[in-house]
Amino acid sequence: MHDNQSYQAIIIGGGLAGLSLAILLAKDNRKVLLIDKGEYPRHKVCGEYISLESWNFLERLGIPLNTMNLPQFNSLRISSEKGTELQSELDLGGFGLSRFVLEELMYKRALELGVTVLTNTKYLNYSKEERSFIVETTKGTFKTEVLCGAFGKYAPKPFFKKNEEKHNWVGIKYHITLDHAEDEIALHNFEGGYCGMSKIEDGKSCLCYLVKQEQLAKHNNDIKSLEESVLRRNPYLDKIFSNAQFHYNKPMVISNVTFSVKEPTWQDVFYLGDSAGTIAPLSGNGMSNAMRSAYLLHKHLTFLFKGQKSKAETMHNYRKDWLTHFGGRIRFGRFVQQFFCKKNLNEASIRILKHATFIHKQIIKKTHGKSF
Ligand SMILES: Cc1cc2nc3c(=O)[nH]c(=O)nc-3n(C[C@H](O)[C@H](O)[C@H](O)COP(=O)(O)OP(=O)(O)OC[C@H]3O[C@@H](n4cnc5c(N)ncnc54)[C@H](O)[C@@H]3O)c2cc1C
Repeated sequence: MHDNQSYQAIIIGGGLAGLSLAILLAKDNRKVLLIDKGEYPRHKVCGEYISLESWNFLERLGIPLNTMNLPQFNSLRISSEKGTELQSELDLGGFGLSRFVLEELMYKRALELGVTVLTNTKYLNYSKEERSFIVETTKGTFKTEVLCGAFGKYAPKPFFKKNEEKHNWVGIKYHITLDHAEDEIALHNFEGGYCGMSKIEDGKSCLCYLVKQEQLAKHNNDIKSLEESVLRRNPYLDKIFSNAQFHYNKPMVISNVTFSVKEPTWQDVFYLGDSAGTIAPLSGNGMSNAMRSAYLLHKHLTFLFKGQKSKAETMHNYRKDWLTHFGGRIRFGRFVQQFFCKKNLNEASIRILKHATFIHKQIIKKTHGKSF
């Protein structure tokens, strides 16, 4: 137990958002505590396509991407359930790296810089005491002036929680070995969802799909049956499921996934990454958004720690900055996602986009940001 220790900042959640912020603050010699209920390394349900907008940022954090010989993508292939396909160049593009490797590298970097990281530690509750927060965890109680929620999609109490949405999704992921284009990210549609595939490190590929919970329920929540009778109706997915070597016995699954803008600040707490807002995975930049939100929050916290801005001003400025960068992007991502999951709309959208390069370039532009 480490009761009553005091930190300049406590971050709940050591995913990409929490790890990025912890590293940035530690580089300024701030005393930081990062708490995660899991341990590193670990797999996470994610397409593992990382928009190139965050390459320079990760390098600056000290993650040696330039030396890792990672697959890079400059082309996008989309197919409808009937097999109609669209291929286009990606202006910015992306690279492939598993969460297993990336989070482990960031965790080690955070430790190297002096962040106190408590793994296998569950956040339990927080309360406020004048200007500070008391944070209770399974490994003790801690005190801080700055509390940051980076716990991802599911908010523990009493953090801000958005009312449940009507449509929930399930995310399913495999690592596979399959011979396919190195420089391409593919998005294959099926009734009630879509499946991404792209290369990651060591010649492996990530195959990850998102399906409406109601579609899975129609198959008695049996993933195999869903794949056999729905996903494999798309000829591209049929080929993948027939020819790939699957590396897990069972897929990784997460449920109750929703996409919306939540709150970047609420009752004196800062939120970042998916805790502040979750973008639809087809945009391919939830991870970059998580890292960019840490980058923005760090900028504002620097003014606070230097005494140049008050807590209220910092909250106001971060909120404004966050909404400018992500508010519209998240709503637009959700709007586009609707077209990808309805059988007829999907076929029609792909046929239209095939002849309107300008429109799909605009979609990519509206859901992505510049390098930071
Ligand atoms: C199916 C699917 C596919 C996706 N594909 C892509 C993709 O290809 N490219 C892309 O850029 N984005 C993708 N995303 C989005 C991306 O995964 C997220 O946006 C990103 O992981 C957000 O990072 P985060 O740090 O905010 O949250 P997370 O990575 O979820 O981290 C939150 C952390 O908080 C910890 N935590 C939670 N509760 C507690 C608690 N009570 N106590 C202590 N710790 C706690 C968790 O252990 C976790 O490590 C995808 C999402 C889904 C659902």
